[in-house]
Amino acid sequence: MAITGAPELLIVMGASATQEQVDEVVARLDEAGCSALVTPGREATVIGAIGERELLATLPLEGFAGVEQVLPILKPYKLVSRELSPDPTVIEVRGRRIGDGYFGFIAGPCTVETREQTLETARAVAAEGVTMLRGGAFKPRTSPYAFQGLGDEALEILKEARYETGLPLVTELMDPRHVEAVVEAADVIQIGARNMSNFSLLSEVGRAPKPVLLKRGLSSTVEDLLMAAEYIVKEGNSEVILCERGIKTFETATRFTLDIGAIPVLKQETHLPVIVDPSHPAGRRDLVLPLARAAVAAGADGIIVEVHPRPEEALCDAAQQIPTSEFGDFADEIRALASLMGRTIG
Ligand code: PEP
Ligand code: MN
Repeated sequence: MAITGAPELLIVMGASATQEQVDEVVARLDEAGCSALVTPGREATVIGAIGERELLATLPLEGFAGVEQVLPILKPYKLVSRELSPDPTVIEVRGRRIGDGYFGFIAGPCTVETREQTLETARAVAAEGVTMLRGGAFKPRTSPYAFQGLGDEALEILKEARYETGLPLVTELMDPRHVEAVVEAADVIQIGARNMSNFSLLSEVGRAPKPVLLKRGLSSTVEDLLMAAEYIVKEGNSEVILCERGIKTFETATRFTLDIGAIPVLKQETHLPVIVDPSHPAGRRDLVLPLARAAVAAGADGIIVEVHPRPEEALCDAAQQIPTSEFGDFADEIRALASLMGRTIG
């Protein structure tokens, strides 16, 4: 359900607070014309109080039995903040998980080009036990003359790949007119870097019944990314995976500058899972593994990488896709490092 208004106050209940005590606080907020967002946690229940800050300040919430602390939420993002929900969010799709110890290993072609190329890639990545299959049907291309993706035909090919391998699908939604088709086919809806600030599209996927993989905009700050996620969660869809994919800087030696620092910062600021795309910032295949290693070591909850059976023939991002023949070695490295970081492939 869409959330009207932002939680302004956090009411932290004591570890031994009873359900009745939680209900009393909620009833008091209700009575005052405010509302409550109750998040039961491992340690304690946290109640987000939604309403005018001035009005909330007049309520004697500290005095209620079971209440330990009342704190204002000062950050502009509320629903996605760690304060509101101290326990990490786990996204579960067709029995695969991402977040809180589950490492999301997402792999597949940049773009669905042909049925054979997609099925070949899907089989190769499935054989390595990845979590999900990626593949673009609608592609955001810098040039209007470049291959724009196979659209609906690609969605059908992806569904066939899922049917054969059992892997959940991640595919990008670019246009509100494609919502129905993409939401129907995808298990996770990708919002690409170029659409991170397309607020009407964000609200649209906020009303969709599928998790969203939200990529950081090319020139967006960490706060911009969190505010974009807030747009989605505000509409009622709390299943959002954040993705650092590199930003534009003065540096040209790599395609984009992978902001490794964003990973621990995001992990502190939000309860949502944070994954990394090492392929697009690398721009060339020899840099994908080092960037992926850095991401895992920095605490990412997963990676999303591009794989192609014959990258030299790829219609999009040819230089950065990992050949299927080399994916086994790549996956070995990722699995070992993820396990060293205490993660299980989800
Ligand atoms: C992609 O994942 O294929 C893609 C286009 O990524 P980004 O939106 O990060 O550029
Ligand atoms: Mn790509």
